[in-house]
Amino acid sequence: MGKKVIFLADMESFYASVETARNPSLRGKPVAVCGDPALRHGIILAASREAKAYGIKTGQPAWEAKRMCPWVVFIHPSMQTYIDYSIRITRIFEQFSDRILPYSIDEQFLDLTGLENIFGSPHKIAAALIELVWEETGIRCRIGMGENPLQAKMACDCFAKKTSGAFFELSSNNYAFYTRPLPIKSLFGVGHRMERNLNRIGVRTIGHLAALPRKMLQRRWGVNGEVLWLNAHGIDYSTVDPDTAHEQKGVGHTATLPRDYRRQQEIELVLLEMTEEVCARTRRLGKIGATVHLYCKGADFNNPTGFSRQKKLPESTATAAEVFPTVRTLFRQHWNRMPVRAVGISLTGLTVYSQLKFSFGSCYRQEEILAKTVDMVRERFGKTCLFRASSLKPGAQFLQRAGKIGGHDS
Ligand SMILES: [Mg+2]
Repeated sequence: MGKKVIFLADMESFYASVETARNPSLRGKPVAVCGDPALRHGIILAASREAKAYGIKTGQPAWEAKRMCPWVVFIHPSMQTYIDYSIRITRIFEQFSDRILPYSIDEQFLDLTGLENIFGSPHKIAAALIELVWEETGIRCRIGMGENPLQAKMACDCFAKKTSGAFFELSSNNYAFYTRPLPIKSLFGVGHRMERNLNRIGVRTIGHLAALPRKMLQRRWGVNGEVLWLNAHGIDYSTVDPDTAHEQKGVGHTATLPRDYRRQQEIELVLLEMTEEVCARTRRLGKIGATVHLYCKGADFNNPTGFSRQKKLPESTATAAEVFPTVRTLFRQHWNRMPVRAVGISLTGLTVYSQLKFSFGSCYRQEEILAKTVDMVRERFGKTCLFRASSLKPGAQFLQRAGKIGGHDS
């Protein structure tokens, strides 16, 4: 089998670059896109090259950025515009390949295997892509290349972003040479906690990690240990499959409430109902989710409040009984007691449901049996034949929504 040609293209200071591109008067100025500069806790979401030169960084509080550079230009984020630009960039890449996987709003994987005969060497293609993106959008793009997505990501993050050439190639031949001297935290998949764990056993560089036996890492950290070993050796069996983009999206549902909800109990009731619906749909796909995302929007249009937060579930699941506690925790942590008008819940990180997982150790889980039974009964006798008693309480949305959905279906 021939070697694959995988690119990871990353946009420099994406939000700030978009703002500069659509408003040329900002060119050359220190620009920072910031949650809400009026609030003390507004944080920097992106900083232009010029702002970075003053030491301004993503994730920093706005007041700190202001202190580093008093003439920094703060700009409110316009998410829809960033999404539009991201899609425009995908369209540019689609002129070269149909195997594109958006990885985040400003990063996309491309599989260019076998296209050398049409477009020339990968280096030429990379140069063309960088040029096209710049000409058509005014955004600087950096490209990492590898034989698999992991190598491409490492090539981009550790090298292409740091060289003026904006391109870097890693391969199975040179991966060890280039990555082993790097600090362990630059390895893909190593977060703060894992960095500390690894430091504790004397691992400070990727080379140190690569020298450890696979078995030992497996024993210590299970699947995560296995993945660490693979990453340290530049091994990755995944492919750039556009279909996985749908997997990552997960199953979600958003609803606008018939009126402003002010009481915690009422809002939590709707959240429970929506969690149930999202879980039921996930089960119908034969999947379970790893992360739950909660979105709440305030009622006052002129004073937008609300939040959008996600949290990993203790264990992948698709039963409301197991997902809802995390939803409730998120809600209680982030709700500022302002009236709520719209809520959304989604389950992401979907994987195929495995019977094994549930029968392991303890016997079949009660929550699973109950959820499956409810699914079966509803399938036969209709959605509204069986529901939580709490759905009769004021504020509940289940019956109304079920009617609405039934109307659409039939
Ligand atoms: Mg970027």
